[in-house]
Amino acid sequence: MFVTVPLLDLHAQYTPLRQALLDAVTRVCDSQRFIGGPEVEGLERELAAYLQTPHALGMSSGTDALVAALMALDIGPGDEVITPTYSFFATAGSVVRLGATPVLVDIDADTFNLNPAATVAAITSRTKAIIPVHLFGQSAELAPILAAAKPQNIAVIEDAAQAIGCQYQGRPVGNWGAIGCFSFFPSKNLGGFGDGGLVTSTSAALAHRMKLIRNHGMEPKYYHHMVGANFRLDALQAAVLRIKLPYLARWSEARRANAARYRALFADAGLPQVTLPVEAPDRTHIYNQFVIRVENRDALRAHLDRAGIGTEVYYPVPFHLQECFAGLGYRAGAFPVAEAAARTSVALPIYPELTEAQQAAVVATIRDFYRG
Ligand SMILES: *Cc1c(COP(=O)(O)O)cnc(C)c1O
Repeated sequence: MFVTVPLLDLHAQYTPLRQALLDAVTRVCDSQRFIGGPEVEGLERELAAYLQTPHALGMSSGTDALVAALMALDIGPGDEVITPTYSFFATAGSVVRLGATPVLVDIDADTFNLNPAATVAAITSRTKAIIPVHLFGQSAELAPILAAAKPQNIAVIEDAAQAIGCQYQGRPVGNWGAIGCFSFFPSKNLGGFGDGGLVTSTSAALAHRMKLIRNHGMEPKYYHHMVGANFRLDALQAAVLRIKLPYLARWSEARRANAARYRALFADAGLPQVTLPVEAPDRTHIYNQFVIRVENRDALRAHLDRAGIGTEVYYPVPFHLQECFAGLGYRAGAFPVAEAAARTSVALPIYPELTEAQQAAVVATIRDFYRG
């Protein structure tokens, strides 16, 4: 039997919610209220509750959430911001856009997240912020980073774009540092019908600054305290996200169940060429991605592709080897763990609606590749 398995099937999530989503979009259209208003405010309230944070503000994207966070902390030329070298581009791109210098560090081999010891070692007198990324849906190891940052007045900005609702030591991520940044890109655990993002903060002052920054520094209308930007979340996106939010916890639970099923299937297949994702203690993994490390990765991907199974590489090139960051002066070999991850990692389908038959087909196809 030939079972095709896309990397992500957004139709499977959309179909059962179709009428509710279309009704929500229609309500916004009928109101002709597209900027701000009750849908955006309602989503912000509901997400603040979900993320157990006092302040949550809709943003135009996860990238803009990061830029707004850095702007709120007055980060610019001469400042250093520590980021992992292995993440989606926006983590370091946002730092460079503000004229600050990203200081890259290697990742932990098990979790793909910022190596805490390397992070602390990279702190200098110019370090203004650290951006731990909760990559693939698992929290970074925050305690040692926070412990080093706080006494030196270094802000921690959590890049939680892939980790909405993921917990660290029993509390949702996004609340541990000064600011949390989230994304509603369609492939994230909570995805909109286009771009969208969110910032969270426990600080009323920082939240207020970000509220100004997302709307040209304006308060009241046409009086500008600072130069901000248009980083607003659309009412249409907010309306869509409000329909989806009540399902987010069970979708993330379904991703976790799928991950457990992969573990059982891979255990039965007995493949020493495959290293499964590691769940570190004291945190939940919500599996935005299920990333395995394998031998002969590119040939395996081609084999899976021929069998109708979608995969992706997150990410083929770490920041320190990106063309646009050549000016930072890093060389190949500088961060061996990230470089090995870029060569060996591959994401398998993990979306909530994935069926047992599909997962069995994925593992059987991988077994065929290594066992022939
Ligand atoms: C998706 C993502 C972003 C950017 O979010 P957008 O909404 O696409 O701008 C930032 N960081 C990480 C780790 C991401 O996965």
